[in-house]
Amino acid sequence: MKIGVIGLGNMGEPMARNLVLAGYEVRGFDIAIPCPGDIKTVKSAAELATLSDVVITMLPSGSIVKEVASEILPNMAKGSILLDCSTIDVESARIVADTAADNGVFMADAPVSGGVTGAVAGTLTFMVGGSTETFSTLKPLFDIMGQKAVHCGDAGNGQAAKICNNMILGATMIVTCEAFSLADKLGLDREKMFDVVSTSSGYSWSMNAYCPAPDIGPMSPADNDYKPGFSADLMLKDLRLSQQAAKAVDADTPLGMHATSLYQTFVEMEDGQGKDFSAMLPMFSKRKRTDT
Ligand code: NAD
Repeated sequence: MKIGVIGLGNMGEPMARNLVLAGYEVRGFDIAIPCPGDIKTVKSAAELATLSDVVITMLPSGSIVKEVASEILPNMAKGSILLDCSTIDVESARIVADTAADNGVFMADAPVSGGVTGAVAGTLTFMVGGSTETFSTLKPLFDIMGQKAVHCGDAGNGQAAKICNNMILGATMIVTCEAFSLADKLGLDREKMFDVVSTSSGYSWSMNAYCPAPDIGPMSPADNDYKPGFSADLMLKDLRLSQQAAKAVDADTPLGMHATSLYQTFVEMEDGQGKDFSAMLPMFSKRKRTDT
């Protein structure tokens, strides 16, 4: 199986490298980054498409994925597979799957969780939309680049799973941060608060595994001056995608909507850009109530 990877950024490059280490022939293309030594270079995405049985895209947005797909799909062999691992909107993922089918190419949307650390370590989780056959063909690749792959259903369902998960994550991180800020102001020690909540009904991944308070719980970006980790910018992107999808299907998601607005303010007006998404805690610590 010859593999092509388009988008060799923070995520795409280590994913491609892990496939090379596993013995696959991998070609790469990126508009801005030269191919690293162990990945074969091509001149264009179209050339990469003609030489690959599976093309993996790891790109910033739905519009870029659609643009790249329209360039590569006519050059891909019938029966080959386009595997998009980018986080994009559900609608674009379904449009690209339809265009792929029109070109005789199979498509799977497989956004990931686990971040750059997971991409480097080969421990990503893939949430996969597409046919059962395509999922089975791709399973050996998921096993190399990740530790878990869940087949979520038809085209677009991988993206649906990703944005639902991250909507929960964004909202729980915010409430975890505001609870620490409240605890501080009530005179409750942060360590005591962690001991109680992490073993009580308020526990969550945000509290237990990624605690936003420095020096509390396991190591997290809070212990490294809130360097990401998972940036507030990427959380805002995913929350916006959740609200775009919710609008499209008329789903009422009031907390998702409010979480989006809080991360937007944090990133655009409160110095949150480039910080980990758990840096909401020092931001809440500075704030006062506005309804008094
Ligand atoms: P990145 O910006 O580091 O990499 C994207 C790469 O795509 C860049 O190198 C860019 O030059 C390239 N690119 C853009 N347009 C292109 C085109 N037309 N043709 C070829 N290459 C093109 O981004 P990243 O952090 O690697 O994220 C990639 C995707 O993974 C995004 O959709 C992101 O939401 C998702 N994601 C990222 C993380 C993370 O922690 N970084 C975690 C989970 C999911």
